[in-house]
Amino acid sequence: MVNNPGNTISVIKKQIESYSSELDFSEAGTVIRVGDGIARVHGLQNAMSGELLEFSNGTLGMALNLDEDSIGVVIMGSDVGIKEGDPVKLTGRMTEVPVGDGMLGRVVNALGEPIDDKGQIEADGYRPVEKPAPSVISRSEVNQPLQTGIKAIDALVPIGKGQRELIIGDRQTGKTAIAIDTIINQKGQDVYCVYVAIGQKASTVARIIKVLHDTGAMDYTTVVLSTANESAPLQYIAPYAGCAIAEEWMSKGKDVLIVYDDLSKHAVSYRAISLLLGRPPGREAYPGDVFYLHSRLLERAACMSEEYGGGTLTALPIVETQEGDIAAYIPTNIISITDGQIYLETDLFNNGIRPAINPGLSVSRVGGSAQIPAMKKIAGPLRIEYAQYKELAAFSQFGSDLSQDTVDRLNHGERIMEVLKQPQYRPMAVEDQILVLFALSNNYLEDIEIRYLRRFQNDLIHYVDEHAAHIKDEIRSTGEISEELEAEIRKVIVAAKDHSSYI
Ligand code: ATP
Ligand code: MG
Repeated sequence: MVNNPGNTISVIKKQIESYSSELDFSEAGTVIRVGDGIARVHGLQNAMSGELLEFSNGTLGMALNLDEDSIGVVIMGSDVGIKEGDPVKLTGRMTEVPVGDGMLGRVVNALGEPIDDKGQIEADGYRPVEKPAPSVISRSEVNQPLQTGIKAIDALVPIGKGQRELIIGDRQTGKTAIAIDTIINQKGQDVYCVYVAIGQKASTVARIIKVLHDTGAMDYTTVVLSTANESAPLQYIAPYAGCAIAEEWMSKGKDVLIVYDDLSKHAVSYRAISLLLGRPPGREAYPGDVFYLHSRLLERAACMSEEYGGGTLTALPIVETQEGDIAAYIPTNIISITDGQIYLETDLFNNGIRPAINPGLSVSRVGGSAQIPAMKKIAGPLRIEYAQYKELAAFSQFGSDLSQDTVDRLNHGERIMEVLKQPQYRPMAVEDQILVLFALSNNYLEDIEIRYLRRFQNDLIHYVDEHAAHIKDEIRSTGEISEELEAEIRKVIVAAKDHSSYI
C-alpha cells in the first residue's frame, strides 16, 4: 500500500508534538528603540543584570532593566551608529576593568581604558566593577590611623584605615583640596590611592592630575576619569570601576585610599539613566533605589581581618550641598551610610579659615580609636576647648566687660583656630603636628602674636629638626610621649621661642 492515511497522520502528530512554540531569544536580540544613550532590546532573555552586550558596530552596552519582553541597555560610548533592527549579542561577561600594579600612575576612563599617553596597560587581570562588599566575618575593626596631613582633621576628626568619611560642603569650599592633600600625604606611607573624578570639567581634572604628577603622588595613584561631557552611563560606572581597581590591591593585603569626587554628580547621572529607562521617579526625581546606589559602593570600603589578608580600603566620598543644606536627599542618604563627615562652610572659607572645617558639625565615628596615643592625648582637650571657644565667641560679641577667665579662653580659642589653618598642598607629618599641637594645648603659644603663629610653627619644626631630631623619631616609632620625652619637648619649645627674634 502506497498511501496509508494512518501513517501520515502519525507523522504529522509526531511533528506537532515535537514542535516547540518557543523561539530561542537567549543569544541574539534586536534593537527596538535607541536614543539618549539608552537602547531597548527585544530578546536576550538570558541576559544578567549588569552583563556586557555588544552591538553590531562593536559598541558595548550594559544590561540594566530586565523586563519580560525586552531589556533596557545603557550604551557605553556613543549611540550614533546604532539603529533600530540592529542585532545585539550577549558577551557572557560582566562589566570589568583591568587591575594590578600596571594601573599605578595611569589615567583611565570608566572602562579602565588608558586615556593618558603612556600606551597599553599591563594588567594583572580583570575584575568586575560590581562586586558584593566583604562579609562581616572577614572584617576587623578599624584600628590604624590614615593620616591626612591636615591638622584640623588628624586632630579633630581623625580617619582610620578602612573607614568611610564623607567630605561635604557647598561648591568651592575646598572639598577636593582636602582629598588631594590626603593623597599627597600618603607619599612613602605604602598606601595606594585611586582618585575617581565624576562629572567634573576636564580642565579641573587636568589641573588635579598635574598636581599629582608634580608632587610625585602619581607614582602610587590611579585616576579614573569620567568628565561632565561623557555619557551618563560612563559617569555612573566610574566609581564602581575605581573601587574594583582599589579592591584588587586590598585583596592583596595592601592599604588603599579611594576618593569619589563627587557622589552628587554620580547620583545625577544615575537619575538621568533611570528616567531614560522609564523607571518611576521618587523624591527629587531620583529613583527609589538611589540609596542602594551609594550604599553598595561605600560598603566595599573595609578593614580586612588578618586571616583575610589584612588589607584596607578607606573611602573619602565627596558630596556637594546647595546653600549648606545637609538635609537634602542625597546628603542625608550618604551621611547615614558613612562613618562620619567633614563639613566645610562657605562663611569660614570666605573669612580665611582654610580648611573651612566646621568642628561642631564634623564627626568621625571610628577614627578616634585609630589615633596614635600621643595625638589622642593632645587632641581630646583641644576639641573641647575649641567647641567652647566657638560658643563663647558667639556670646561675647555683645558683652563688654568680660571676666579674665573668658578673655583667656577667647585668647586660647583664637590661637587654636589660627594654628589649625593650613595652606593647600602642605600636608604635615603626624610628629610635626604633635609638636605644634603640644605647644598649643600647653599654652606655649599664648604670648605669640596671632600673625606670627604660622611662622613660629615652621620655626619650631625646623628647630627640632636641627637640634633634637630624635624627638620626632621617638614619637614616630613609639606613637607615645613618655614623661622624659615630654620634658624634652617642653624644653625644645622654650628654646625655639628664645631663638625666634619676633617673639
Ligand atoms: P568645587 O565645588 O568646584 O568642586 P571644591 O569644594 O572642591 O570646589 P576646591 O577646588 O578644593 O573646592 O578649592 C576651591 C578653591 O580654594 C581653590 O582655588 C583652592 O586652591 C582653594 N583652596 C582650597 N583649600 C585651600 C586652603 N587650605 N588654603 C588656601 N586655599 C585653598
Ligand atoms: Mg571639587
